[in-house]
Amino acid sequence: MKASHFLIKYGEIAVKGKNRNVFEDALGKQMRRALRRVEGSFSVEKRQGRFFIHCSDDFDYDGAVAALSKVYGIVGICPVYVFEECGIESLRKDVCAFVRESCEHESGTFKVKARRSNKKYPLDSMEINRELGEAILETFPGLQVDVHEPDQMIYVEVREKIYMYSTILPGAGGMPLGTAGKAMLLLSGGIDSPVAGVRMAKRGVTLEAVYFHAPPYTSERAKEKVIDLARIMSEYTGPFRLHVVNFTDIQMAIYEKCPHDELTIIMRRYMMRIAEEFALSGDCLGLVTGESIGQVASQTMQSLRATNDVCSLPVYRPLIAFDKQEIIDEAERIGTFETSILPYEDCCTIFVAKHPLTKPEVQAIVNSEKALDDIIDPMVRKAVDTAETLRISPDPNNL
Ligand code: ATP
Ligand code: MG
Repeated sequence: MKASHFLIKYGEIAVKGKNRNVFEDALGKQMRRALRRVEGSFSVEKRQGRFFIHCSDDFDYDGAVAALSKVYGIVGICPVYVFEECGIESLRKDVCAFVRESCEHESGTFKVKARRSNKKYPLDSMEINRELGEAILETFPGLQVDVHEPDQMIYVEVREKIYMYSTILPGAGGMPLGTAGKAMLLLSGGIDSPVAGVRMAKRGVTLEAVYFHAPPYTSERAKEKVIDLARIMSEYTGPFRLHVVNFTDIQMAIYEKCPHDELTIIMRRYMMRIAEEFALSGDCLGLVTGESIGQVASQTMQSLRATNDVCSLPVYRPLIAFDKQEIIDEAERIGTFETSILPYEDCCTIFVAKHPLTKPEVQAIVNSEKALDDIIDPMVRKAVDTAETLRISPDPNNL
């Protein structure tokens, strides 16, 4: 005997009124997408304000649970056992088989909660509760009824067949992808930006990403690492486009013409400007970075202000008040950490000053950038025009 269906629970607060359909359609679509890569076939059906997933006989249970637990908008995943409707005597046996198979404890307290959707069924829900409760008590001496605070609930739904579930596996929470707008993530090979991107996806935001590459100062391996990170992220964010921008000329120009203690901040400003160009042409409503206050010199509040100054779109920084350890914990949880710590230099580490400015004045930075006036525009143009755009998807063959 094994579970052949899943009942999907989702948060109720966000799905009132008009939004409900949008929310449910997006959730259905994301569940189907997630299950496409799992062995077996699945049909996702919306029924009376809930989702049921019917699984084929040969389906991969663990794979299905793992895939569904990455779908945002789900709060609980309930494996459901289905029995033929053959009268109450047979139902009494079935519920005991179900308790033996799927309930975590055969001791402690329980409560049966029946729901009779098939009104032709001869017993009403109270009577079913009583019959099944009694059958369980007779079969499992360690179990007792507690209708107020039971250790486990046993849900029984009587339709054309009988559906039973007890376990509620935790879902990822958040909002289904595609229910908010799109944002452009500045994705580096570090620990923070992949976590930042996945956090935004959790609120339903669709992503696009840009990576600034500086060959030969940054190796092909560094770029591969970013693509690998993007691929891991895409298990949560869905497929997205990654623009790889050649940043070498711009970085060299800044290095030659601007004060070295301002290098990082000026570089960051050019990254934001270019990211915004991609964002606007890709219908994005904002930029996303992995910045966190005080983490490094370029992330003091003064530096963040100077970076922000060049953007007209909102800049979302979901990790702004996270400690590094909290970010690391999350990177481990989503599976990006091991890749992030591979030791390939990123383009910022090569050009960092020994003593970067920690409290830049916006006006001073603007003045320093004037040294680039004659040369920078064509360089930015070229960087945008020659960017390589990759389609990232969880399936490596589908790049
Ligand atoms: P991360 O772990 O995300 O690299 P970090 O602590 O190394 O963060 P910084 O290098 O200061 O921080 O970068 C801050 C943010 O700027 C990053 O989170 C990312 O959003 C963006 N960024 C930095 N370098 C790049 C790059 N080469 N390409 C794209 N975005 C970048
Ligand atoms: Mg970095």
